[in-house]
Amino acid sequence: MPAPIPNKVNAWQEHWRFCRNCFSLFWNNEPNGNKGFCASPNAPASKGHVAAGWDFYVAADTTNPPGGG
Ligand SMILES: [Zn+2]
Repeated sequence: MPAPIPNKVNAWQEHWRFCRNCFSLFWNNEPNGNKGFCASPNAPASKGHVAAGWDFYVAADTTNPPGGG
């Protein structure tokens, strides 16, 4: 079922993933393979997040960025 897209959305970013260990979304497309820092006691030795499930697209309105622009 398609979701309604608010009129103010003018940008998308894909490759956001759910972490199976700390249950947060994290950016999963760093060219160097960096998975960020996972605070879960179940994090792997690398301390990076571990992707599970869907590839999320984050919608944004870039017309009024914080601090101007
Ligand atoms: Zn994590």
